[in-house]
Amino acid sequence: MEKYDLLINGEWLPGESGETFDVINPAREEVVAQCAVATIPETQTALEAAQTAFESWRYTSARERCEILHLAADLFRERIDRAAELLTLEHGKPLQDSYKELKFSADVIDYYAEEARRLHGTHFEGDAGPTHSFVLKQPVGVVAAITPWNFPVDLLSWKIGPALAVGCTAVVKPPSQSPLAAIEFMRCFIDAGLPPGVLNIVMGAGRTVGAELVTNPISRKIAFTGSTETGLWIAQQAAKNLKHVTLELGGSAPFLVFPDADLDLAVPQALRRCFSHTGQICISVNRIFVHQDVEQEFTERFVDSTKRLRVADGMKVPDADMGPMIDGAGLQTVLDHLNDAVEKGASVLAGGTKPEGEEFSKGFFFLPTVLTGIDRNMKVMREETFGPLAPISTFNTTDEAITMANDTPYGLAAYIFTRDLDTAMYAAERVDAGGIGINVNDITDMRGPFGGRKMSGVGRELGQPGMDSYLEWKHVRLLRQAPRQ
Ligand code: NAD
Repeated sequence: MEKYDLLINGEWLPGESGETFDVINPAREEVVAQCAVATIPETQTALEAAQTAFESWRYTSARERCEILHLAADLFRERIDRAAELLTLEHGKPLQDSYKELKFSADVIDYYAEEARRLHGTHFEGDAGPTHSFVLKQPVGVVAAITPWNFPVDLLSWKIGPALAVGCTAVVKPPSQSPLAAIEFMRCFIDAGLPPGVLNIVMGAGRTVGAELVTNPISRKIAFTGSTETGLWIAQQAAKNLKHVTLELGGSAPFLVFPDADLDLAVPQALRRCFSHTGQICISVNRIFVHQDVEQEFTERFVDSTKRLRVADGMKVPDADMGPMIDGAGLQTVLDHLNDAVEKGASVLAGGTKPEGEEFSKGFFFLPTVLTGIDRNMKVMREETFGPLAPISTFNTTDEAITMANDTPYGLAAYIFTRDLDTAMYAAERVDAGGIGINVNDITDMRGPFGGRKMSGVGRELGQPGMDSYLEWKHVRLLRQAPRQ
């Protein structure tokens, strides 16, 4: 059984307690590997190592930092087969989706390596006196990066890419369900020559190891992606030391289909965003709203396509549409939301059960499920299911659609399908979400800001804002004087 160690101050360590946790393949319910659990003193040592390393890393040249990042990205591309296999084994996503995530992660590192070389402050001459003002952009310091299990490498690259590029150091806590590909990713930075202490890895429970990273005064920035519940707790703790935070939290994305929408486009786009990753994406479609004029045709085509999706073990069928849920708890939430909807009057038009057959005797599989007869008080409309449930509702007017889309505590992503530019822009301005896709089912582009409004979070990752959030501005004001003769 392979065992994964902690990384503290450049050394791979088995962990002083000897304690480990198992990483489980959710398709087969078998142990894939074991990981060392960090103690609180080890977590503190990792933070101290990052603090010490910060004092030299921050003053290395941008060119030096960025060359190491480029090299790490190249190494990761060379090793991608191993990482993709691990990601599918630990998470369950089909192999082709693992490759997609990992390639994007390497590209994000390259992107920030390039952006950080273009980073500079500004200069101006005084408004109120004979002075020069220099505005320096300096790294915030030690970053605690805490990530969820659904995109464990991708969401890590969004954090350590900009952080390391601008001169911050980091302690990372990967998710316990799927830490392996992320560790292989970070190994590439060490092998690329990153100095000891610049990047550290501690593993273990969020409420112990994660909490220490959040509350210890050494970390000056918490970069967190995960549930709204954990994010709220982190925000409260971070406030006690006035730390910087970026919180990427839960979502409940609406998908609006207007009467003039191109259904040849809207149906497959909705399908993919509802069910890829088994619905376990923060920007998954959670609520579909279709204009009454096209509701029947959309629903028939959507249900028909849903029934043809291939659910499988992602190692055996690399291009499957859906793998299993991450674990039994995730599956239980899906069942809970489904039962609640049915009790309140919903009809199940597709799925609604586990798939049948010997290949599904183990694993947390569930069929892609379509629901109609939806009421706004159902859990599936109010809470984040994080699973393959697609509830379809109807609307009559554009304003009604916008009101329904905004009827949620979340505000991460929204999708608008129409061929009318006025409708598209009217809705895009009014739907309360951090990212809007118009005739496209993904709001992710590494050059654009990604993040949520309302209970979906604060701050932005990716693009320029994703780098700015690791910087602090310092105003240096210098009196202009004639030299002494
Ligand atoms: P989670 O909040 O349970 O855990 C996320 C991470 O935080 C894990 O590493 C966990 O160990 C750690 N953690 C838990 N409690 C902690 C604490 N008290 N202090 C510090 N760390 C702690 O979330 P999850 O179940 O792993 O991920 C699913 C959630 O993530 C969903 O709600 C999803 O919407 C959200 N998510 C959001 C985005 C986004 O960009 N907005 C992207 C992906 C996932």
